[in-house]
Amino acid sequence: MTEQTRTIEELIRQLLVALGEDPQRRGLVDTPARVARMFAEFFIGYDQSKIPRLTIFPNCEDGVVYNQMLIDKGYYFSYCEHHIVPFFGEYAFGYIPDKYLLGASKIARTIDYFAGRLQIAERLVQQVVDHIDSVVCPKGSILVMWGRHLCKEMRGVRKYGSPYEAIATTGVFYTNENGCKDEFLSRIK
Ligand code: ZN
Repeated sequence: MTEQTRTIEELIRQLLVALGEDPQRRGLVDTPARVARMFAEFFIGYDQSKIPRLTIFPNCEDGVVYNQMLIDKGYYFSYCEHHIVPFFGEYAFGYIPDKYLLGASKIARTIDYFAGRLQIAERLVQQVVDHIDSVVCPKGSILVMWGRHLCKEMRGVRKYGSPYEAIATTGVFYTNENGCKDEFLSRIK
């Protein structure tokens, strides 16, 4: 067991006591260890060694030069840094390559890495496009993330199922060159 795991376990035990619970009762006795394991699995975004190595390919391999928009979609989970409750939903990422193409699975891995921190949606979208751009150097990239924020649904305004949307754009998507941002937004609908 690492020092960090031990610390988290102890803090969760103290949290249970502070909430008015008995950490020794049967249903809770293993909870601190379980939460510590879950955090270790989830919060990979604090471990620099886990930052995804992005595989790139020259955009001319086998005589193919691809100069259109590429789009990837998927799911993500993160934790709101203001309340430490999850926010989660779907994302759509697009880029127009220049000299390099990005390995298709690497987008999801990059999302998982940066989502594996205490986050706000506005920073999360930016960190993902910045990391991908720094390696792939595309003509531009764009990321939209829709999310249900439990801090907005289970407390406060209690607006059930009301998605919050954040977007980041770089390069030709930022300037909407040839309407590429409009095209992306209409294709992901
Ligand atoms: Zn929140």
